[in-house]
Amino acid sequence: MADVTYDEFGPFKIIEVYEPGAGLRGTLVVDNVSRGPSIGGVRMAPDVSTGECLRLARAMTFKNAAADLPHGGGKSVLYGDPAMPRKQKEELVRAFACALAEVEQYIFGPDMGTDEECMAWVRNEIGRAVGLPRELGGIPLDEIGATAWGLLHAARVACEYRERELAGARVAIQGFGAVGRHAARFFTGEGAIVVGAADVRGSVSCAEGLDVARLLALKEEGRSVADYPDGPGIEKGDAEAIIDVPCDIWIPAARPDVINEANVVRLQADMVISGANIPMTAGAEKILHDRGVLCIPDFIANAGGVICAAMEYHGASESAAMEIIEEKITYNVQRVLEIVREKNCMPRRAAEEMAQRRVRRAMALRRWSLF
Ligand code: NAD
Repeated sequence: MADVTYDEFGPFKIIEVYEPGAGLRGTLVVDNVSRGPSIGGVRMAPDVSTGECLRLARAMTFKNAAADLPHGGGKSVLYGDPAMPRKQKEELVRAFACALAEVEQYIFGPDMGTDEECMAWVRNEIGRAVGLPRELGGIPLDEIGATAWGLLHAARVACEYRERELAGARVAIQGFGAVGRHAARFFTGEGAIVVGAADVRGSVSCAEGLDVARLLALKEEGRSVADYPDGPGIEKGDAEAIIDVPCDIWIPAARPDVINEANVVRLQADMVISGANIPMTAGAEKILHDRGVLCIPDFIANAGGVICAAMEYHGASESAAMEIIEEKITYNVQRVLEIVREKNCMPRRAAEEMAQRRVRRAMALRRWSLF
């Protein structure tokens, strides 16, 4: 395949599904299953190449290993417009699940263009899905803030490493959706002060701190954080202006590549705890590191969601899932920072090494030859 590269980790299987009668076309990449059956989302989109699907599957291999889950990495793409009529979507998702029923090394999860109802259809067809509705034993990870809960614990360890308190730390949050909103809630619960918040429509900041209950209420009403009432010290700007807010902890929880070589100079934070996936380019991350900004990598800090999904798959309760998120993320961030100290390297490098070592060790324990 043109845009697929093979290396020591995988991909283990690439399956193309095509059923013209049902209008069904899809791709599954199971990247690596040495740690267990792969977990990864089903992305519904018109235009994801097999190579891109592989890169996403690979990211799951390392994210699941970094989270120390007994799961490998996979990803699938169901080609189509995610906004198609619900009935048609249901038929396609069900057909896709049936076409992959025998690939037991892949557990379906929600991703862009699919949701918990889609996972309920998959579960109904083939029994193998995570991210289910509560009625089917699912743990609604966005409702409970599983990922933000992980960010809080990543920040706690980062603060210990920096020998500073989380209480009183000034936090700026880019993106006020499922991850950003819960982050605001959890961080203020520990005494941190939210000094800036942004959503796609704009940003608001105040050096003295914003009223998080008010921000949450605005979002509940379907409004923007930029609709925050004016007052002394309140500053408003476009969505990008959140990059300029001086703070101790900057939390990206919106889109990829929001910090790049062109704007990284504007960021005035002591640490970045990544909620979003790939929120900064590799070059920007290196510049921050050289400036002494501590960046806890995305696939370590934001693993709360996938940990929660894996716990759901293994039948854990909501409270047990939250406990495990705390335990795993605390341990992993501590471990990454120990490697950083030992090797004087970037946290991302340390995290990648840690994840790769875990996958290699698991691979060494497998019997590859059947003869
Ligand atoms: P969401 O759609 O619920 O929220 C996204 C928020 O970002 C919205 O408030 C939106 O207005 C805002 N936004 C979009 N573009 C923006 C911009 N240019 N500037 C400022 N704000 C902007 O999404 P989410 O579930 O909160 O996920 C946020 C990020 O975290 C994504 O990158 C996602 O891949 C990643 N992530 C989410 C989870 C999870 O559990 N939901 C887990 C791991 C990683």
